[in-house]
Amino acid sequence: MSSAADSASADTPVLSIRGLQTHFATQSGLVKAVDGVDIEVYAGECLGIVGESGSGKSVTFASVLGLVRPPGRIVAGSVRYRDQDLLALDRKRLRALRGKEIAITLQDALTCLNPALTVGEQIIETLREHRRAPSRTLRAQALEMMALVGIPEPASRLKQYPHEFSGGMRQRVMLAIALACRPRVLIADEPTSALDVTIQAQVLELLARLRRELGMTVVLITHDLGVVAEFCERVVVMYAGQAVEIGPTRALIGAALHPYTRGLIGSIPRLGDIGHRIRPIEGQVPELIDLPAECRFIGRCPYAEPACRTLIAMRSIDARRQVRCRRAGTLA
Ligand code: SF4
Repeated sequence: MSSAADSASADTPVLSIRGLQTHFATQSGLVKAVDGVDIEVYAGECLGIVGESGSGKSVTFASVLGLVRPPGRIVAGSVRYRDQDLLALDRKRLRALRGKEIAITLQDALTCLNPALTVGEQIIETLREHRRAPSRTLRAQALEMMALVGIPEPASRLKQYPHEFSGGMRQRVMLAIALACRPRVLIADEPTSALDVTIQAQVLELLARLRRELGMTVVLITHDLGVVAEFCERVVVMYAGQAVEIGPTRALIGAALHPYTRGLIGSIPRLGDIGHRIRPIEGQVPELIDLPAECRFIGRCPYAEPACRTLIAMRSIDARRQVRCRRAGTLA
């Protein structure tokens, strides 16, 4: 989509996820929430991770940052950030890296923010974790962050509690906390899903502006392919714990190779196109317990045939596109 992305893609990835498997031992069986995911994130790009609930997109990046809690466990794979193996870091070193190098912002700002602390205290707490500086300096930096994310009258709002902010403003506070230490990579997990459409647009514009101004790499996790189309240069489509299609956003949306991606595109409403019929994808994401070794989309796929009842690997179509479908390229 942008030339910046094109040149970034030629570089070494800043974050490289290989063969990642994160499983949850439950009373009903082993839930393979992430099952062999390979994703590269290149410096400076905005990478969209899209899929329905249960696709494994959030668990993948929670795994990257060591945020998976029992009964969840990473059972295989590697995660490299620059020259470090993140899965080999102990808790202390991972905590030191979180926020400073890679930060995450989550969907539900109200439950993520501490209701008993002012927003100023929460931003300063994050800064203090990574920087040694007098309180006055940290307060000035917190004010700077509030202004950067577009919170008006930061000096007085610094003293307010989360419940005194609107949903959109709380999301800005979350961004201020996530960006306080100027991380190189921001993982934004459904940052706008809980917001009204107009506020959603404002927060996404803000994210795009901050990315430009801070020179950040952004991973945008969302169920909304429309958001990805607008803000991301590349996209990873996930389904049932696996990546099923990866490619530059424009090429992928213009000519999707995987039937699931086609289904996602067909279910986007188009304003102004009165005759356009939204075609929802029939059926549900399968239970991730004891799945047979076959295409995971088979139960919902209009192109399924008996030969799809076998293990389907991700394959490269060209240097930038990959797909997990044996019929890709032959679909009508
Ligand atoms: S491998 Fe078969 S069932 Fe799976 S998405 Fe492709 S055509 Fe559909």
